[in-house]
Amino acid sequence: GIETVSITCLPNIQPRLVAVSKTKPPEMVMVAYQHGQRNFGENYVQELLDKASDPKILSSCPEIKWHFIGHLQKNNVNKLMGVPNIFMVETVDSVKLADRVNSSWQKQRLSAQRLKVMVQINTSGEDSKQTWLGPSEAVSMVQHIVSQCPALEFIGLMTIGQYGHDLSEGPNPDFQMLLSKRREVCDTLKLPLDKVELSMGMSMDFEHAIEVGSTNVRVGSTIFGERAYPSTPSPEKKIKPAKKSIMILE
Ligand SMILES: *Cc1c(COP(=O)(O)O)cnc(C)c1O
Repeated sequence: GIETVSITCLPNIQPRLVAVSKTKPPEMVMVAYQHGQRNFGENYVQELLDKASDPKILSSCPEIKWHFIGHLQKNNVNKLMGVPNIFMVETVDSVKLADRVNSSWQKQRLSAQRLKVMVQINTSGEDSKQTWLGPSEAVSMVQHIVSQCPALEFIGLMTIGQYGHDLSEGPNPDFQMLLSKRREVCDTLKLPLDKVELSMGMSMDFEHAIEVGSTNVRVGSTIFGERAYPSTPSPEKKIKPAKKSIMILE
């Protein structure tokens, strides 16, 4: 049959690729940068600070734009605001956090530029570590940033969403939820729809996300390869050190 994709809802914004470099070394960031990539994402404040302050990155990637995409704790805000070339914080999920980011940016920033922020929404309604901001609070959250946080520039809405949605069952409901939240935010606060971005889509689903209107996809493993987390070794990795020690004994 013929598949029809409605493009009427697509905003007039070229989707931005955020290359998620978490757990990957600065060298990989530099290679991607040399190939023209400018936006990079990290989800731990300390790792972002280390990578963004790396002398090699500072000297060879002057136009780099760092996105913070992890859960942000209030006691880490000052540290995050001090990250060189911090470009956007995608994970503002409470009024208190917005206030803290606003005042920290006002104090630390030398330039008059506002900091770009997105409001992260828990679209799946799952008991989630990611964020507690439910869809019903999206409008008041955005209103607070727009009216009470002069150092912040509201850019759009962000969701992580449920992992591994089966597209044969229809469009990802998390993405649909974010789309309808944007409409509600724009209608209520009289914001132009094409000025409010949507950050959704990762390695497994960024194409679908763009088809339904994402303006900002966050892609890690498809670009940089699978991540190895030392804290959660897979069974294979538990075996490897044993083999190695046997080899050393030999
Ligand atoms: C790690 C991460 C990504 C990238 O995930 P991949 O599946 O490797 O593309 C995107 N968004 C957030 C918030 C992440 O933490």
